[in-house]
Amino acid sequence: MKRIVVLGAGYAGMRMVKRLAAAKVDAQIVLVNKNPYHYQSTELHEVAAGTKEPADITFDVAQVFAKKKNVRVVIDEVTKVDQDAKKVELKNSDSLSYDYLVNALGFESETFGIKGARENGWPLIDVDTALAARKHLEDTLKRYKTSHDANDLRIVVCGAGFTSIEYLGELVYRLPDLAKEYGFPLDQVKIDCIEASPKILPMFNQNLADWGVKFLEGKGVTFHVSTPITEVKPDAVMSNDTAFPAGTIIWTTGVQGSHIIADSGYDQKRNRVVVEDDLRVKGQPDQFLVGDVSAVPNPDNGRLYPTTAQISIAQADCAADNLVALINGGTTKKFVFKSLGTVCSLGPKTGIASIDMMGHWNLKGWLAAVAKKMIADRSALELADIRTMLESD
Ligand code: FAD
Ligand code: NAD
Repeated sequence: MKRIVVLGAGYAGMRMVKRLAAAKVDAQIVLVNKNPYHYQSTELHEVAAGTKEPADITFDVAQVFAKKKNVRVVIDEVTKVDQDAKKVELKNSDSLSYDYLVNALGFESETFGIKGARENGWPLIDVDTALAARKHLEDTLKRYKTSHDANDLRIVVCGAGFTSIEYLGELVYRLPDLAKEYGFPLDQVKIDCIEASPKILPMFNQNLADWGVKFLEGKGVTFHVSTPITEVKPDAVMSNDTAFPAGTIIWTTGVQGSHIIADSGYDQKRNRVVVEDDLRVKGQPDQFLVGDVSAVPNPDNGRLYPTTAQISIAQADCAADNLVALINGGTTKKFVFKSLGTVCSLGPKTGIASIDMMGHWNLKGWLAAVAKKMIADRSALELADIRTMLESD
C-alpha cells in the first residue's frame, strides 16, 4: 500500500486529507502537524485584538479524522524534507518515508531583513504569536495607569495590507472596553498605520477603499502612506529619519512561506515554489505543494496569485484529485482558480466586500461582515467533520 504524507494541518492540509480520505484511495494517509489543533488563521487578528479566544478558532485535528481508518495523525514538527531519500525529518520522532508527499506547511512572518523588526515587532502568524501580541498590548495599556508614559498608549501597525486593516478594525472595536477595564484615557490613545505604498486597499474599487479608510480614521487611526519602514526600535518605528513612537508595534508587513522550504533545498523565492500547472513540484513527480508555500501564476496577467485561504482550499481539491488519479494510473488535470471575491472586515460588525457570486457585488457595512462570517463558518464546517463539531459541543 502506498503512503501519502501530508505536511501541515492548515486550510490546505486539512482539506487535502479530507478529500483523500473521502476518495477511499488505496493508500495510508499520514498528516503531520506541529500542534494537536488546526487554527483558522483567517481569524488570528481577532485573537490578537482580544475579540475572540483561541478556542473560538481552533479544533482538534485527531478528532476530526478519528473515524477515518486510513488516516493517521502525527503531532510533531517537520525539520526538513529529504527529497532524494523521500523522507520527512521530524523533531521528536523517527523520520517518515513517503511514496507521495503533499507539502502544505503554510506561512511565516516576512521582515524583509529590516533591522529590529524581528526583535521589536509583534507578528500575527499563529495562535501563540497572536496571544503574545495581545498580552503585550494589554500589559502596556494597563501600565499607563501607574506609568503615565504617553508611549504606553501609542500603537503602531506596520503595513496596511489586509492583516493590518482587519487587525485595526478589531482593535478600535475593543479599545473602549479595555479603557474601562484598565482605566486609561481613550482619547489619548494614538494609533498610527504606516504603509510603504501610496494606496491603501488597492484591490477594492476607490469608493469601497475610501469608505474603509474613513471608517478607521473616524475611530482614531492615522494612516501614513508612501512611508517605508526602515528600522524598528524597541519604542519607535522609523521611516528614514522620522520616528513613530510606540509602546506596541504590530508587525504585519506581509508573509513568506515556511522556512522548511529553503532548508529542504527547493528552488524557491521567499520560501514559495512556483509549481507545475497540476501543482506538482518540477522534477519531483511524487510531490505536490499547496497553500502558501506554493506560487501559482495567474494566467490572466502572469502575476502570482495572492496567498489566501480561498486559493489554498481550491488547490487542495485539485491536488487531491490529481494524487488519486496518479495512484489509479490516470492523468492529472490543470489547476484552475475562480475567485469568489474578497472580504475585508473592519471589526466584528462591519467591513467591505467585493463578491463574485451570481454577479458582481460591492458591499460595505454590516452586509460585508455577514458575508465574511458566512465564509468563515462554511470553511470551518468544510474542514472539520460536521459530526465532530457537534460532538465537541
Ligand atoms: P497555514 O494556514 O499557515 O497552515 C500551515 C499549518 O502547518 C499550520 O497548522 C502550522 O501549525 C503547520 N506547520 C507549520 N510549520 C510546521 C512544521 N515545521 N511542522 C509541522 N507543522 C507545521 N485568506 C483568505 O482567503 N480570506 C481571509 O479572510 C483571510 N484572512 C486572513 C487573516 C489573517 C490575520 C491572516 C494572517 C491571513 C489571512 N488569510 C486570509 C490568508 C490565509 O490565512 C492563508 O493564505 C492560509 O492560512 C494558508 O493556508 P495554508 O494551509 O497554506 O497554511
Ligand atoms: P500583504 O503583503 O498583503 O500586505 C503587507 C503590506 O505591508 C503591504 O501593503 C506592503 O506594501 C506593506 N509593507 C511591506 N513592507 C513595508 C515596509 N517596509 N514599510 C511599510 N509598509 C510595508 O500581507 P498581509 O496583509 O499580511 O496578508 C498576507 C496574505 O494574506 C495576503 O495574500 C492577503 O491577501 C491574505 N489576507 C487576506 C485577508 C482577507 O481576504 N480578508 C485578510 C488577511 C490576509
